[in-house]
Amino acid sequence: MVIGIIGGGASGMAAALAAAENENAQVLLFERQARLGRKLQATGNGRCNLTNLHAAEGGFHGEEANFAGFALKEFDPKAVLQWFRGMGLFTVAEASGRVYPYSDQANSVLDVLRFALEKPNIRVITGFEVSKVRREGASFRVENGEESFACDKLIIACGGLAGTKLGGSMSGYKLLMKFGHRCSKLRPTLVQLKCGWGGIAGLKGVRANCRAQILRDGSIFAESTGEIQFTEYGLSGPVIFEISRDVCHGPGQWACRLDLLPETSREELLTELRHLMSFRLLPLQKFPILCAILINVKLILIQL
Ligand SMILES: Cc1cc2nc3c(=O)[nH]c(=O)nc-3n(C[C@H](O)[C@H](O)[C@H](O)COP(=O)(O)OP(=O)(O)OC[C@H]3O[C@@H](n4cnc5c(N)ncnc54)[C@H](O)[C@@H]3O)c2cc1C
Repeated sequence: MVIGIIGGGASGMAAALAAAENENAQVLLFERQARLGRKLQATGNGRCNLTNLHAAEGGFHGEEANFAGFALKEFDPKAVLQWFRGMGLFTVAEASGRVYPYSDQANSVLDVLRFALEKPNIRVITGFEVSKVRREGASFRVENGEESFACDKLIIACGGLAGTKLGGSMSGYKLLMKFGHRCSKLRPTLVQLKCGWGGIAGLKGVRANCRAQILRDGSIFAESTGEIQFTEYGLSGPVIFEISRDVCHGPGQWACRLDLLPETSREELLTELRHLMSFRLLPLQKFPILCAILINVKLILIQL
């Protein structure tokens, strides 16, 4: 039996390894880029956050938030770690539950997968962009315009549109829609926010803990607390990734409000300043300006 897998990313490689457990199967792994797992190398900021110990049903977004439930029941984070350990990968978990390779290098994850794929019944075919899939009776024919392969079973693991520079494309959606699947509305998620205000560039490189709120016509639409990173063009960091999917969910005036002192109220802040002043730790004439600066730091409103 020939099992074809389109896409040599994390999912395609894992599917190939699982399919090859059947010794009677010949696995063909098609990858359009010159190398396997390019997106994997960039994940987790080059460290590859390969699972999360707290991953559970209900912790996902989308039209069907429980969609991941089935996969998690079959292959939970513990099983993921055992599977990688079986291939020789040592991992380390952070307090947040995020798990990374012990080397802190995404390349280690890719390497163990690539080495594991070196099996007699797996053939990796890189530089092969599947442009068409045809049904031939009960099997499939996979083509790239020049060459074609017949497969008894076919797995489409082309990934999504995210990370176009790393290989993300519409290809998988198009192939699947030809077989009658539907595609929900695509929109960016886990992304940075660009701001219209040029002054933001002056804060480039600053990192802080903050409460970030997405406002639509002045009302809170989404909020989260965590680390923010200011960049040349706008806002980044985990707290922004968390709320970015909720931006521009329709018409209206969209803005992001940041509270860089989330645990301190305005009143507490003023009391603290007065206290410092009473001990002459702050020069009297600077008091109004310091108040203004700190209160501005407490609440920054950025139009998106
Ligand atoms: C910047 C960034 C950081 C991320 N960080 C994390 C993280 O830390 N932790 C985490 O869990 N997830 C992270 N993700 C998400 C994660 O990368 C994806 O969920 C994961 O890569 C999906 O794997 P995949 O195999 O489904 O798709 P992909 O990794 O996209 O692989 C699909 C492969 O299919 C190939 N392909 C597409 N069309 C064809 C075709 N027609 N013919 C042949 N080959 C084709 C592509 O070239 C690609 O190699 C991150 C994503 C990005 C973009």
